Order: sequence, then structure tokens, then C-alpha cells
Amino acid sequence: MNYKAIIEDIYERVQPFLGHGRVADYIPELARVPITKFGMAVCTTDGDLFQVGDAAEKFSIQSISKLFTLTLAMQLEGEGLWQRIGREPSGTAFNSLVQLEYENGIPRNPFINAGALVVTDIILSHLHNAQRTVRDFVRQLADNEEIEFDTAVAHSEKITGYRNIALANFIKSFGNLQNEPVDVLDAYFHHCSLAMSCSDVARAGLFLANKGRLLQNGEAVVQANQAKYIKSLMLTCGTYDSVGDFAYRVGLPGKSGVGGGILAVMPGKFSVCVWSPGLNDTGNSLAGTKALELFTTVTGVSIF
Ligand code: GLU
Repeated sequence: MNYKAIIEDIYERVQPFLGHGRVADYIPELARVPITKFGMAVCTTDGDLFQVGDAAEKFSIQSISKLFTLTLAMQLEGEGLWQRIGREPSGTAFNSLVQLEYENGIPRNPFINAGALVVTDIILSHLHNAQRTVRDFVRQLADNEEIEFDTAVAHSEKITGYRNIALANFIKSFGNLQNEPVDVLDAYFHHCSLAMSCSDVARAGLFLANKGRLLQNGEAVVQANQAKYIKSLMLTCGTYDSVGDFAYRVGLPGKSGVGGGILAVMPGKFSVCVWSPGLNDTGNSLAGTKALELFTTVTGVSIF
């Protein structure tokens, strides 16, 4: 498969979509990113990396971080995690409070904000310096020691994140947070603010295409069956309230973020990350989703 030629062709074909959609502006710092950016990187289980456009430029991974924190929480807590978080698509907005009220503070899944806050709480309960451990974990996955938090983005969200603040306090009121909401939120905002390039994110997600193991040294990040669980959750809950449309068009498990990034994985073959900040109505990158749809259509490779 000539991935290089394929993604170069996709780069041409997505040009008419760049500049469409809306950059997330509820986090003021994200609103400053130029909407016409586009990058794409493919990492194969053969050890090759192919990239195009702005694939080496760092962006705010936002909710893609939920994938990495879930992986770490699975390492730390195992199946016990599911006593406190569900595994079903929510059918509501990623930051909704409504469902939590009638489901007694148990978030529907780990990829909506409520679920990610509980995941963060679990990590905080296990680790002395959770924030740094998450950053170092992502560095290890991506094989890049330079990955850092974007403190301006974390601060921007901290001072405007009223809904997340409400969610954390609400979950605490049901007894489903062990730590103080302020500490959980601080760690959560920092994880979301991690600045990574498409190549970093694709590399960091490659263990999911490689039966849970790092490609560089064969070390197990999670067990193969846990990698299956994570990918299943990506497919059913990873792309906001349009998982059905994403699965229909792309046919790969994926996790998106409001920074405009999407990580998708093809078991046994590759991980791919696209980034373009213009979001569609359901909060997924508009040009990014199009690029992934073209990628699986042109290559004929998807999980279906
Ligand atoms: N930090 C963002 C928030 O909590 C993440 C949202 C996202 O990327 O889905 O609102």
C-alpha cells in the first residue's frame, strides 16, 4: 500500500473543506488557532511513518487525552473501573449534566466529560503526581520526551470551565469522586491541554493497533484483551454524539477532541491522526472526518 501517495492525494482532496465548520471557542485559547490548518499522519505496525500538511505542528489534543487516561486507569484499576463508569454511548452532549441526575452520578462512558472526570479521579487516587505521570505516560507512548502541557490552554479552560466545574461537583455529590473536585478538574484540564502533533498522536495510539504493545520494544501497555475493550469503546463512544455517522463513514474506532484532532486505529495495520480545527455540528473535525473517510475508502481498509 502506497500510504505516502494516498495521503498526499487526500491532502489535495480536502482543500475545499478547509475553513469550513467552527473552531471551538468556548475555550478562548482554542479560538486563536487558524481554521485552515490540516495535518495527517499514519503510523504502521511495520514501523513506518507517513505525514502530510501540518502534521508536525502541535495542537491541543483535548478529548483525545481521555483515551490515554483511560488506558492508564485500566492499568491501575483493572475491571474495578466499571463499578463507577458505564460502557454505553450517551446519546447526549459530551458535557451534559442531565443524564447524570437520573443515573445517580454514574457516567455513561469514559469518553464523555463526566466519565473522564471519574477516570481522572481514579488516577489521582493511585498516584502521587498524577499530572506528571499522565504526561510521562503519553511521552512514552509517543516516544517523544518533549511533549508538554500547554499551560495557557489549561488556564483558559480553568477560568471558563463552568460546566465541567458543575459536572465534577455534581458527581462528587453522588459520592463518585474520591478526591476534591478542584484537584480532579485541575488534572483534567491539564491532560486536555497536552500539545502534540499528528505524528505524536498517531505514534501514541499505535499500541492499540499492535495488540496493546509498544512497537519500539514490544512492552505491553495493556493486555491484548484490554486493547480490544478500549477500541470497542472508541467505536461506540469515541466521537461524540455522532458515533453512528462516524462508524458509517470511516469504519474505524476513533477518538476525537474539540481541538480538531481525531485518532483512529486499524488493528494489526496502522494508527492515523488527522487534525483540522474546523468542527462540524457534532464537534468532530469536519475536514478530518472527511480525510479519514477518504482514507478508508481509497485503501479499502477498515474494520468492516
Ligand atoms: N477540555 C474539553 C472540555 O472539557 C474537552 C472537550 C473535548 O475535546 O471533547 O470541554
